[in-house]
Amino acid sequence: MIDFELHDTLKGIEAFVHQFAEQTLRPLAREADTNGKVDPKVIQMLGQIAGNRATIVPEERPDAGEERARLGNMLSMIGSEELAWGDAAMILNIPGPGLAGPSINAAGTPEQKKKFLHDVFTGEEPRFGALAVTEAQAGSDVSNVQTTATRDGDEWILNGTKVFCTNGARADVLVINATIDKSLGREGQKLFVVLKDTPGFRVGKIEKKLGLTASETAEIVLEDCRIPFDHILGGEDALKPKSGFKGTMKAFDASRPTVAAMAIGIGRAAYEYVRDWSAVEVPAHSRRRPFVEAKLAHMKRELDAARLVTRKAAWMADRRIPNSKEASMSKAYAPPAALRACIGAIEIMGPEGYSKEHLVEKWYRDIKVYDIFEGTGQINRVVISRNILGRLDELKPENNGS
Ligand SMILES: Cc1cc2nc3c(=O)[nH]c(=O)nc-3n(C[C@H](O)[C@H](O)[C@H](O)COP(=O)(O)OP(=O)(O)OC[C@H]3O[C@@H](n4cnc5c(N)ncnc54)[C@H](O)[C@@H]3O)c2cc1C
Repeated sequence: MIDFELHDTLKGIEAFVHQFAEQTLRPLAREADTNGKVDPKVIQMLGQIAGNRATIVPEERPDAGEERARLGNMLSMIGSEELAWGDAAMILNIPGPGLAGPSINAAGTPEQKKKFLHDVFTGEEPRFGALAVTEAQAGSDVSNVQTTATRDGDEWILNGTKVFCTNGARADVLVINATIDKSLGREGQKLFVVLKDTPGFRVGKIEKKLGLTASETAEIVLEDCRIPFDHILGGEDALKPKSGFKGTMKAFDASRPTVAAMAIGIGRAAYEYVRDWSAVEVPAHSRRRPFVEAKLAHMKRELDAARLVTRKAAWMADRRIPNSKEASMSKAYAPPAALRACIGAIEIMGPEGYSKEHLVEKWYRDIKVYDIFEGTGQINRVVISRNILGRLDELKPENNGS
């Protein structure tokens, strides 16, 4: 049974993260956006407050109790929404495994989780992880990946170029997908861990972007980059038939609701800001008032609906219930709803909403990418319809056993 009430542990964490987002992240947002980067001292400070381990999935933490393990994905929803409410670009500057975490958790062996997550991310120094999947011709179409991994005795040799990799330039641990045999299509794709400073690994161009300007997005070039054999996620088992591509897809089932929760956080930031602004700037007798009330109601309705579908996906993941459809539903629904909330906030405020005096214009620029990365809206709609059509096929008279 789904219980809509947040558990006491989760309520406590929500309040704690909200305070951090409000007092630490939000005040840094404008300056970081204008500069297009974050001062290393601030990153150090964020690491000290949040800790490198903050973004390690609780079930993988040695100190995680049974209760926290069962709440891992829901914790991620609550934390992600609050942090993004504070500032979406600053989140990506909080040290931690980032998107490398879900991939290693989904596809790695226990030894690999220890080596690439715990051992790297438990020290004092800020450490970052990254996931490099996208290539110039392979983003939505992940199966078209051209990066190759060729076995040479006890090593793999990686060659290829990845684009648009969040935190790729400073990552200590990068998860990269590559094909070990192009003729196998998706089957030939495996996930590999590349550690910083590995010879043959270099950072290419840094993207200049519309939003999330304070988050660095880099091109990654692999030229005869040699990594140990045991850096293939899943170890020897990953070489068995039908094992490779699943790691990437399984990681999406965990990360898509998280990205959806972040989008909700940005939309909620815009909604709450313009709600409070309207209370002061739009008097009850104003001719604008009915429009403002209707718009606010619409924003709130859509954001709350987005949260429900997103938390359902996380609730299922915490119970090991297959959730690909729900994960994609959350990702397909929440970012457009949050985008409409950001547009609505600008419409209500008019030119003031367009001014850099307020963060509303920044939220509007930041939100768009949530409908692009971790699978575009279109791709997530394809995933949903494939799930539905699969079930329709099961319902056909010839399949229902009658
Ligand atoms: C700021 C930012 C950060 C990013 N961070 C990362 C990262 O850390 N790691 C990483 O690996 N990638 C990252 N990406 C890349 C991102 O995940 C991809 O850009 C995204 O998955 C889209 O893939 P693509 O670039 O191949 O676009 P394309 O597939 O070329 O898409 C172009 C358009 O065509 C549509 N389209 C494509 N195929 C279909 C289809 N079959 N049906 C309907 N419509 C379709 C898409 O929805 C889109 O609207 C990042 C991107 C950005 C902008």
